Amino acid sequence: MPDYPDTQLLIGESWSDSSTGKTIEVVNPATEAVIGHVAHAGRDDLDQALAATAHGFDIWSVTSAFDRSKLMRRAAELLRGRADRIAAIMTLEQGKPLAQSKAETLGAADTIDWFAEEARRTYGQVIPARGAGITQLALKAPVGPVAAFTPWNFPINQIVRKLSAALAAGCSIIVKAPEETPASPAELIRCFLEAGLPAGVVGLVYGNPAEISEYLIAHPTIRKISFTGSTPVGKHLAALAGAHMKRATMELGGHAPAIVMEDADLGLAIPQLVAQKLRNAGQVCVSPTRFLIQESVADEFVEGFVEAAGNVVVGDGSKPGVEMGPLANNRRVFALEAMIADAVDRGAKIALGGRRIGNKGYFFQPTVLTDVPTDAAIMNDEPFGPVAIINRYGSRDEILAEANRLPFGLASYAYTRSAAHQEALKSVRAGMMSVNHLGLGIPELPFGGIMDSGYGSEGGSEAIEAYLDTRLFTTANRQ
Ligand code: NAD
Repeated sequence: MPDYPDTQLLIGESWSDSSTGKTIEVVNPATEAVIGHVAHAGRDDLDQALAATAHGFDIWSVTSAFDRSKLMRRAAELLRGRADRIAAIMTLEQGKPLAQSKAETLGAADTIDWFAEEARRTYGQVIPARGAGITQLALKAPVGPVAAFTPWNFPINQIVRKLSAALAAGCSIIVKAPEETPASPAELIRCFLEAGLPAGVVGLVYGNPAEISEYLIAHPTIRKISFTGSTPVGKHLAALAGAHMKRATMELGGHAPAIVMEDADLGLAIPQLVAQKLRNAGQVCVSPTRFLIQESVADEFVEGFVEAAGNVVVGDGSKPGVEMGPLANNRRVFALEAMIADAVDRGAKIALGGRRIGNKGYFFQPTVLTDVPTDAAIMNDEPFGPVAIINRYGSRDEILAEANRLPFGLASYAYTRSAAHQEALKSVRAGMMSVNHLGLGIPELPFGGIMDSGYGSEGGSEAIEAYLDTRLFTTANRQ
């Protein structure tokens, strides 16, 4: 494993410590050891970052899409070349197994490439006129400097979607990256600088999230915000954005139903759902959480799921053979312990796990709860950990009613061979539904939620639209 680097702020063209000298400790969640520090931005640093991003926007917004695209592709190549080192850094700060860190880093390079291609296709429209000699154009223009706020569960992936879409559209961006996992984001952004990105086009800050977001969102330089995190924080930031009339993309929490009908191929459903559940120790906004199983296959599903999840190797993500790392911070351990205790108090049964592993490092057992009553907290708030809630239902209507019970609507999954069931699944209120395979999260597909899970898409062509204004230009030919 490489040495873990301390992380500085990126303001303009220079990496620097905070003007206040303040830093925050970074902890390895597998050992609880302090492995480094990250600079904690003060108000002066933010003011400098804002001035730099305004300057960066002046340059980048008039750089041709052709040149923006070429530079982004260079950054993607640099990232690919450094994937092993960056993955090791990510595992040290976040905990996930090395293979998952590497997949995230390489996936980020693919995301950059895809947005680099889209940069050259931000077409406007020519709209047929009612009168002779009139030309009507819908022009696309970058919205302006962006402020992005990203969480610790995917230190690189959460940034790269916002960063690539903003850069492709011609925007500059200040990223407030996660304080708990700061070094891999800095390595991502270093690739863009070394690819030739002009000073100020990207800024990187860390500090007190609430203070930074309140200051940046209100500031007149910032024209658009993008946030990934929990629904309560998202609602707060969306309200701030509204108060200052800023465009916003909100990628928030979910509580994904995973539906298994009686005609499902369990040999396909069980391994796919176990892998998707335990990926990144369940700390994934699209993690399947409520498993809604039709009665006649429920026993077989629970048995198979428990066996497969029980065989998953949990340990320090930097060690070979480990399939699930620790939780990323001790807040998740406390939250899971409380949710599981509450569910058991209300009558749920533990079919697997249910506890923290050891007392050093934030390791948690892959856990399966069954017969969980609807009023249990864990049925209503996302567990954000390696916990599967498996409940059984008689009919398709009961399953669909449970799937649609909550105000969230991010990911959903289903396994069935029936065309009629597949048609009925379109009534699940979710931004994404994946049937009979794990098909979410690739850059060319829409990615986002509805209702309390937020608004806006971070994938597909809509993702760039979110960083563009449409401006009408109409002219009459009078000579
Ligand atoms: P949290 O709600 O305090 O923070 C979630 C994220 O939002 C963190 O990255 C944090 O730095 C940021 N944040 C918090 N307050 C902010 C503010 N006022 N302005 C800007 N950013 C702010 O909780 P947490 O303990 O870090 O995470 C727990 C919950 O957050 C989870 O249960 C999950 O629901 C949610 N979460 C979601 C995602 C996701 O991918 N959608 C990622 C991480 C966490």
